[in-house]
Amino acid sequence: MRYASKFQILALLMLPLMGCQSNLNNVSYQQIENTGITSMLLWLPQSSDVEAQQVTRQLIERTARLSQQIALQLDLNNISLFMVPDRTLNQGQFSKSTDYAIHYHYHPDKLDPQFSQQLAYQLYLALRQKFDPIDTALNQVVNQGLALHFVADVAQSKTPAQQQTLTEKQLQHQFALLQQHKPITVESKLLGYQLVKRHFEQYPGSNAGNTYTLNHQLFSRYLSVTEKPAKKTLQFVRTAKETAPQIYRNLDWANSPYKGLVFLEGWNRQKLIALTFDDGPFTYTEQILNTLQAHKVKASFFWMGNRLAQNKALVLRAKQAGHTLANHSWSHPHGMALLPDELWREQIDKTNQAFKQIIGHKPRFYRPPYGEITDQQVEDMGQQGMKIMIWSIDPRDWDTDKVDSKKIESVIIDNLHPETITLLHDGGNSPNTVNALPRVIEHYRQQGYQFVTLEQLLGISDRF
Ligand SMILES: [Zn+2]
Repeated sequence: MRYASKFQILALLMLPLMGCQSNLNNVSYQQIENTGITSMLLWLPQSSDVEAQQVTRQLIERTARLSQQIALQLDLNNISLFMVPDRTLNQGQFSKSTDYAIHYHYHPDKLDPQFSQQLAYQLYLALRQKFDPIDTALNQVVNQGLALHFVADVAQSKTPAQQQTLTEKQLQHQFALLQQHKPITVESKLLGYQLVKRHFEQYPGSNAGNTYTLNHQLFSRYLSVTEKPAKKTLQFVRTAKETAPQIYRNLDWANSPYKGLVFLEGWNRQKLIALTFDDGPFTYTEQILNTLQAHKVKASFFWMGNRLAQNKALVLRAKQAGHTLANHSWSHPHGMALLPDELWREQIDKTNQAFKQIIGHKPRFYRPPYGEITDQQVEDMGQQGMKIMIWSIDPRDWDTDKVDSKKIESVIIDNLHPETITLLHDGGNSPNTVNALPRVIEHYRQQGYQFVTLEQLLGISDRF
């Protein structure tokens, strides 16, 4: 029962608790604590005590059903909801005064039955604006589409915009209007919904809860691509040791329970490669960052929690450069022996918190040390919203007795395949990895490959 504490808070709130006070348009508001949604404060006008209690009960009842899903998907930060009574209104209306304050104008005798869906929609938009404040027409359309998917997920009901499907022709037409900067009003929700739906179809594991921090530009190509990309049916690990690719788990396209949760490589067949570096930040991290910078390559780093604090400058530099930063446990244990709670608390969450201290957010991607993880642990991580990243090429660069930089190069080059995730180490004790990089980069670029972060490769946001 991971959410037990939230339900306990919710139970307490069945009695309205009066807290701080605030002023809005000369009306005094009192805070009714949070509604069960992470860090969301509810404010009611101070004068109407009896009404306030009634409305509060209804609100808590309605938001309670959504609160668990919302808490799981959106890491909210002190959002305030002001309830503004207005007897001239027939229907409730949301308005936003600042980034973190939403006003709900309503007739005090009747709450809109769609209130919770509308609230989820507004919260989503408010949160997405925080991560991606660019206000272009395309961004607004993508935001609306993501928010509609989010509401459909948490409320399990569809709005009229979600029930329709645009034909390919209609989609292109709407996009053409958008590109000419002609205002799209009613249709924009439908366009956004269809656009985001395509994105989710292409990237198993992505949804409105873990994609909301992605840059909106990643969605635009779905508007000009009509054919669906070819998908892989299995995922493999290729190493220097084995003669043929090894199946790590049954990551079958249609049947695996881990589809969208455990990744060895990208599921599509685009010419993309994600370089990943484990065990740092350490001795060779700086040289690797220099090499990546010189070659304009974006990569992903799986770092250990207990190495972060003393390497703050490196962590910030990697973040600044646009690399994906990810979790590789606190102290690199053999994790299969650990109790689920121990693994989460002392290794994974502790590392996520340490990252948050330095870079301001918690990573979503986790790579188990030695690739060791049980089925139960995979499921537990999924519950927490984490994604498990294994690899599809392993040149065993840590094995410095047997593997020199030439060998690293040849394993990565000989195993070229679309949407690879290549395992390397910046936390090792030899410069072989650094030395191998330029030749690997040159070769893949000659073959038409683009170097991407795991976020770009998988269409899933790398952070909470
Ligand atoms: Zn490791």
